[in-house]
Amino acid sequence: MNILIVDDDIVDREHIKRTLHKTSTNWLFTETESVDEGLIAFAKNDFDVILLDYRMPKRDGIELLLELRNSSLEKSVAIVMLSNSEQPELALECIKAGAQDFLLKSEVNSSRLERAILQSQARFDLEQKLYISYQKAKTLAEHDSLTGLANRYSFEEALRLSVSQKPRDKSILALAVFDLDNFKFINDSHGHDVGDELLKQVSNRIYHCLRENELFARLGGDEFAIILNNLHSIDNATRITKRILNCLEDVFIIAEIEIKMSASIGIAVYPDNSIIANELLKYADIAMYRAKKLGRNQICFFEEQMQAQFLKRYQIEANLVGAAERNEFVLHYQPIFETATTEVIGFEALIRWNFQGELHFPDNFIGIAESSHIIIDIGRWVIEEAISKIAHWNINHGKTLSVSINLSVTQLSDKSLVSFIESTIEKYQLEPKLVELELTETALLENSEHAIGVIESLSNLGCHIALDDFGTGFSSVSHLQNFPINTVKIDKSLMLASNEAKTLALIEGLSAMLHSLGLNIVAEGIEDKDSFALCQQLNIQRMQGYFFSKPVDVNTVEKTFL
Ligand code: C2E
Ligand code: CA
Ligand code: CA
Repeated sequence: MNILIVDDDIVDREHIKRTLHKTSTNWLFTETESVDEGLIAFAKNDFDVILLDYRMPKRDGIELLLELRNSSLEKSVAIVMLSNSEQPELALECIKAGAQDFLLKSEVNSSRLERAILQSQARFDLEQKLYISYQKAKTLAEHDSLTGLANRYSFEEALRLSVSQKPRDKSILALAVFDLDNFKFINDSHGHDVGDELLKQVSNRIYHCLRENELFARLGGDEFAIILNNLHSIDNATRITKRILNCLEDVFIIAEIEIKMSASIGIAVYPDNSIIANELLKYADIAMYRAKKLGRNQICFFEEQMQAQFLKRYQIEANLVGAAERNEFVLHYQPIFETATTEVIGFEALIRWNFQGELHFPDNFIGIAESSHIIIDIGRWVIEEAISKIAHWNINHGKTLSVSINLSVTQLSDKSLVSFIESTIEKYQLEPKLVELELTETALLENSEHAIGVIESLSNLGCHIALDDFGTGFSSVSHLQNFPINTVKIDKSLMLASNEAKTLALIEGLSAMLHSLGLNIVAEGIEDKDSFALCQQLNIQRMQGYFFSKPVDVNTVEKTFL
């Protein structure tokens, strides 16, 4: 029998060994002097029993006991505690902490110690078997045996817990309930084995498109549910559930049968729809039935307003794809004026979208295009259109007008943005310095190596870099110093409020600072004579705003400004 002795006292260790050698059992001893050495020895060997001294100088034996019992019982071993102290509560404490027996060192004799060891081992075996069967029963009670996902019981528990522990921040919790479209038909026509296998494959696919902290459960039959925690907005719930629908798109092949599968998803939101777990589940169910009624493979929110918002967003996103090829975008141009001469020196290109017979403004669709990365294609269209137009005007009218193009942060992640801009400038023979790329501070805040590299490469091409919407966000001096910025655009909200003393002081301060850094300033949102006068007074070099002109279409530019 393989024994680990953990005892700091060499005399006691010798005594134990001598005592046990008197019995007929074959003993193999490993000795350690402390808890830490004991743990190391335990990790390296397979012992049958540990004889553990209660009192030791650095760490008491009970710490080793607690450490072993806190890890899985399956990997543990029987422990007999030995002590010199006769306090009865000590023995109790050790048994409660998981020791199988407790002996006083003064009582140790060969038959008693041998019996303690053998009985402890038997006790430990029983405990271990009980533990394993408890774990099995627990898994069976909490998990669905077919898919291995959480079952309805544990899902409802988890939902109640998530709702009650939801931090009081602005984040939301969404509950998505869904079931498979026409699953009954598959079951009826191909048999239950195929149906079962399909459920397994479906849950496996979905499981892998979720984040780890999202609880995914099978509520029964072909009905599933997911708790989406810590969402920043409803749109996040839309995104994740759409990912679920997408991941079902490829056919499933089961027993050589090709099966198309889709799902109908209903979503209820905490706290908007309810703060009670059961109600959320009911509302998500109602939304799911609506999704089915609407024609399956759909996502429905319980609340009409959320549903309307979702549909609008969904519609915009779907229609943005390919809109450039269908020539639905146009650029309007807003002239930029030199303050000293009031002459037009260039234009800012601003996108518009002809959609469903209406001209849509960027605020309605740029955000959506950014979050779905469609902005990368749209942005390329804008770049080529704007550069070709300004080059055309300059050649035909003998001018050196510049063009300002807005770039989203997302566009900076496009690996070939720089080469695309470079080749476009070459293609239309425009001087690079006549192209000004407008970025907001959030783009610089990303501070990713890649974004910084892109901005520097664009500057090295000879393009100018403008910092847009300055004065609203961070307005950080370090951004102005660390990036190759040529121009700063003071945000229109400041100009529009320049009649307020505080804002006026802010504009004065900002422009003084920008001048001292040697930067070009453009004031946006000049809507009246007073703002114009302010620009003259503060030596703000350039102006842009309704007072001079709104953004206008190409024909109007050609008629009015060229
Ligand atoms: P922005 O870059 O700050 O563009 C200026 C916005 O202010 C334009 O709105 C313009 O019409 C408006 N504006 C100009 N002068 C005045 C004024 O005197 N008073 C007032 N109240 N507003 C004035 P727009 O065209 O709706 O563009 C909104 C935003 O959409 C832009 O803000 C820009 O961030 C973004 N955007 C526009 N075109 C593009 C594009 O091609 N690509 C990207 N990524 N973003 C774009
Ligand atoms: Ca801009
Ligand atoms: Ca701006």
